[in-house]
Amino acid sequence: MTFHRALMTLAVAAAVFSAAASAANEARPWLDPALDPDRRAELAVAQMTREEKQGLVFAYFGTDAPWKKFTTFPEARAGSAGYVPGIPRLGIPPQWSTDAGLGVATQGGAKKKRERTALPSGLATAATWDPELAHRAGAMIGAEARASGFNIMLAGSVNLVREPRNGRNFEYAGEDPLLAGVMVGAQIKGIESNHIISTLKHFALNDQETDRNTLNVNIDRAQARMSDLLAFQIAIEQSNPGSVMCSYNRVWGEHACESAYLLNDVLRGDWGWNGFVMSDWGATHSTAKAALSGLDQQSGYPFDDQPYFGELLLQAIASGALKEEKLAEMARRIVRTLFAKGVIDYPVKVAPIDLKAHAHVTRAGAEQGSVLLKNDGGILPLNKRVAKIAIIGGHADKGVLAGGGSSLVYPVGGNAVPGLEPKVWPGPVMYYPSSPLRAIQALAPGAKVSFDGGASREAAARLAAGADVALVFVTQWTGESVDKPLTLPDEQDALVSAVAAANPRTVVVIEAGGAVFMPWIEKVPAVLHAWYPGTSGGEAIANLLFGVVNPSGHLPISLPKDESQFARAALEEKDAQGRKSLEVNYAEGATVGYKWFDARGAKPLFAFGHGLSYSKYTYSNLQARLDGQELVVKFQVKNTGRRDGKDVPQVYVSPVAGGWEAPKRLAGWRKVELQTGATEVVELRVDPRLLGMFSETDKTWRIAPGKYQLMLGPSSAELPLETSIELPERRLPVHFKP
Ligand code: BGC
Repeated sequence: MTFHRALMTLAVAAAVFSAAASAANEARPWLDPALDPDRRAELAVAQMTREEKQGLVFAYFGTDAPWKKFTTFPEARAGSAGYVPGIPRLGIPPQWSTDAGLGVATQGGAKKKRERTALPSGLATAATWDPELAHRAGAMIGAEARASGFNIMLAGSVNLVREPRNGRNFEYAGEDPLLAGVMVGAQIKGIESNHIISTLKHFALNDQETDRNTLNVNIDRAQARMSDLLAFQIAIEQSNPGSVMCSYNRVWGEHACESAYLLNDVLRGDWGWNGFVMSDWGATHSTAKAALSGLDQQSGYPFDDQPYFGELLLQAIASGALKEEKLAEMARRIVRTLFAKGVIDYPVKVAPIDLKAHAHVTRAGAEQGSVLLKNDGGILPLNKRVAKIAIIGGHADKGVLAGGGSSLVYPVGGNAVPGLEPKVWPGPVMYYPSSPLRAIQALAPGAKVSFDGGASREAAARLAAGADVALVFVTQWTGESVDKPLTLPDEQDALVSAVAAANPRTVVVIEAGGAVFMPWIEKVPAVLHAWYPGTSGGEAIANLLFGVVNPSGHLPISLPKDESQFARAALEEKDAQGRKSLEVNYAEGATVGYKWFDARGAKPLFAFGHGLSYSKYTYSNLQARLDGQELVVKFQVKNTGRRDGKDVPQVYVSPVAGGWEAPKRLAGWRKVELQTGATEVVELRVDPRLLGMFSETDKTWRIAPGKYQLMLGPSSAELPLETSIELPERRLPVHFKP
């Protein structure tokens, strides 16, 4: 065949194919990508039988659940979180869902685990204060989800770190609604850039694991709008996620998945969001009530004891308790989202994954998100020509720790330290096989690097005494469904003290879910908080310790000194008779994190926003002006140190007359990259909601007229520059978007 004829044949074949496709599309016009998603959904749902619609709103667990005598469908992705059968005659694909925010997870009960790239924890990503990095991270895990055959990720966790003991804090994005909302929104946008759906969760006020299925959260509604709900609102504005997951807990006396206030009024009404709401696994408690309150899909059956949106939903329609039109609306929301996000036009396909490229993405996250808390006397970065390095504890010879529960990603290469308790869910305790020791040795090939596991303090101290520098790795494993005290387990505090006594050049590296107490802080010159640093965490830690990468992470949470600084003394409250109460009262309202410390004039161990660099940055020319009604802040930041690096200048705002839940709020920041000697001019627009108080009575944000102070610095506790501005009175409607 000549080249010309071959081309002709191809052209004819293409014409035949596209004619066939358009004939198919004529018969099934909802498959025409030129139509808008609302129209497509309307057309598709109009063709569905009642049972087909019901099939869309009822999701199964994607893994066998022997304790419930449940075997999942052969078409489900093995070991996954969720499966909804498709409707092949209408061209509607199955919904295959997977956890979660740190990468493609596998359910604990699965026989075979998918081995995938794990990002550093959510707090580590938040600690980068870099939305572009969060977007890249999201795009990477979304690509792995897509290539693993998933079209829904249960990712984007924006519950505020309100309770420092919460075992899931590592999945979240910190204590400030602006920071958390922006960072999680960026991650979701990255995930959905793969034509798959991402699921913002857990809506709402699911801020502790203790009694999570039964507790009832009480908080002033306006205060919730200015804290936990604001984080969700901002994340939604940034990313318009396809789906939102309602949470296990009750709020204001109702199950979160039956709260018409949260789902119908706030989420859809006030915020104008139009995706679909799915329940958490086992968080559906009724049929008609849940559906009428705004829940569109029951998840993870048989986690709930009843098929509320299965057989029971068909019965509810037959009995008249639920109208067929309500079911059609729920189905429409789901199908509309599948169209809007490209799930139907770009079907997912199992494909190879570029694990090497993805390792760079996760390593960059750990490098940018680890926080250098302390560095007295410039003991860090380490010199590559150092002769003797003692590495102690934390299984640092083998790998780095991960958090447990549904978000756990299994790594390529398997668990570096198998067999630790708990071995079953929310375990296994997982160490990713990215050994800090190996990475350190690679960067200092001439050094004698020795390791001691830390079981005997005496042996560890002896090893440290003979070294030029001692690196102590301390770890705290946390996981879903359990809350933890902040004291390091297994007498690691005593280990640090013993090593520091033997060698004043002791550096502590922390791998933990969030805050931990550091009773030894005065005894050691340097501390690096590496959170759970992900599948390339060992290399990232080594690069930071040796200055291959200049640290630039800043704390997304306050680190308290001890329990006396917590907003609530105990995780469980007692009722009047002294019995365990399931009421959790957030009396602190929106006064969360640094706001709590500021309001009480208390000093944390390390403040929100804090993070050191091997360079120095100076700020100047702080100015505030009004552009129309918008507050604009401008300043200069200069790298006055001797290394290139990245800084996170932060602007806080405070009404001179007071009247807020706290003296000040974070108003904005920018992550800037500066070569040594370079200056950058930064201009930030302040979200006006951050200047007001929410009023639940008339559903407006009210900005009081008067003088406001703007403060600039490298942390919430170090704000060397100040200016002020007079703001006019302003009211913003509840649906206001900046
Ligand atoms: C968790 C969710 C998760 C779901 C599916 C639940 O236990 O709370 O975050 O997405 O399980 O695995």
